[in-house]
Amino acid sequence: MQSPGFRDTGKFIRRPARPGVYTPANLKKLMRCLEPHSNIALPIRIRGAGSASTDCNESVNGSVIRTNALNRIVRIDTYNHTVTAEAGVRLGTLVDALADKGLELIGNHDQMERTLGGALASPCMGPGIGDQAAYLSRQVINMKVVTAGGKLMTVSEQKPHLLAAFRMSYGLLGVIYEATLRVRPITTFAASHRSLSIDRFSDVADRLSSSNVGLKFYVLAHRDRVYVDLRRYNAEPGNAYDTPWKIKDWGESTVLPQVFRSLGRVMPIPAVRYRLIDGISAATHGLVTTKFVNHGNNVTTAGRRRRGKRQGLLYSTWCFPAIDFSVVIKAYVDFCAQVLKANGYRCDMPAVGFRVSKDASALLSPSFDEPMFALQTISTARHGWDDFVIDLAQFAETWGGMPLFSQSRAFRAEHASQSYSSRLDFFRKIRRQLDPDDRLLNPFLAQNFS
Ligand SMILES: Cc1cc2nc3c(=O)[nH]c(=O)nc-3n(C[C@H](O)[C@H](O)[C@H](O)COP(=O)(O)OP(=O)(O)OC[C@H]3O[C@@H](n4cnc5c(N)ncnc54)[C@H](O)[C@@H]3O)c2cc1C
Repeated sequence: MQSPGFRDTGKFIRRPARPGVYTPANLKKLMRCLEPHSNIALPIRIRGAGSASTDCNESVNGSVIRTNALNRIVRIDTYNHTVTAEAGVRLGTLVDALADKGLELIGNHDQMERTLGGALASPCMGPGIGDQAAYLSRQVINMKVVTAGGKLMTVSEQKPHLLAAFRMSYGLLGVIYEATLRVRPITTFAASHRSLSIDRFSDVADRLSSSNVGLKFYVLAHRDRVYVDLRRYNAEPGNAYDTPWKIKDWGESTVLPQVFRSLGRVMPIPAVRYRLIDGISAATHGLVTTKFVNHGNNVTTAGRRRRGKRQGLLYSTWCFPAIDFSVVIKAYVDFCAQVLKANGYRCDMPAVGFRVSKDASALLSPSFDEPMFALQTISTARHGWDDFVIDLAQFAETWGGMPLFSQSRAFRAEHASQSYSSRLDFFRKIRRQLDPDDRLLNPFLAQNFS
């Protein structure tokens, strides 16, 4: 760790604060980084695995505090079904340690490289079954936090409103140092897979918009195809073998990005490249999803840890009201066709989506008022991506999309303010009280949170 500068003692002249990256190895060092005398350059931003797609974890002229050395699992309580861990523990490490004791996280979360702190401080969502399983942060019952002024503070269920503000707070109210979460015994669900046309999927999305099943899907927008993965708890659960899910994860997350990146390099004719890309996507999804994968649980479906920013995949995620999604998905397919025609750009990876239950456990929950569908556009193709995400943001705004401060690229601050409305006003008030000098506020976040 870089030591946080000199103190003013009268004998020494204070050095100007320098931008830098700090990796405190324990609570004491973390507190020292944040205390006002530490002389580290402002603003300070916290970074876990750095997998967010916006600048919420960056501080170009200030300091970044990385949490990866705070990586202890403190306690797994098999009687009360809770786990306590430091913020830098990777979700994959946590999932493995819990599985050894027959326990799992509540909710279906992949991206095993992300950190516990990052997953609690931003929307960490997936196709969980039931109305309690949308976000990991819902399960937090206690957090130890280091404030913007370097003091230790405990936030627990005894103060539900404060805890709701700290969930998904993007590191704006303080640094999560340690958290205790509810977990549960490993529970098997049945998974069924179908390949549908966009029209047929639109009907299914309409029917399932208010049902609490776990729904995940992969959209091949240029091929009129959606691969649907539907999950339910059965009265008589089958066996959840992890090998088929590993194959599925490997196909979706490793094989496809690598093959598409190579095709981008070696095949210069777009029409041929895209035909190959869609063919390979369809074959991979058809094979791994329909034939082998019938039962699962939150451990087998968690996927593997990936190094770096998930192999450099580009992504932007928006949430749409579930009630409108049957129309939105058709509009999205038209949008993709129009962009390809006008600009010659298209994403090479299938878009991934899932249903997110209504959940008001966090003040800044994207599905605070109603269930949503998250739609994540993913690509390995960099050239043209920046323009694409601007067009995508306009599309999302037109169709009532809710931006995520950590995952939606190119959203307009005014649109985000309107989407989160009075909840954002309330959050800003709490933020100003906890960080009156804006030490944790970078220019990107200041657009919405100052
Ligand atoms: C290809 C791809 C697919 C993805 N798919 C999904 C998905 O399906 N569902 C989903 O929910 N997310 C998804 N994500 C997004 C990403 O994994 C999440 O945003 C993740 O929760 C962030 O965790 P992190 O450790 O990387 O945090 P970072 O990106 O480092 O930080 C995220 C935010 O949390 C804050 N923060 C981090 N640690 C702390 C702490 N200890 N205390 C206070 N604040 C902190 C940061 O300041 C920042 O504002 C995907 C990402 C990629 C690359």
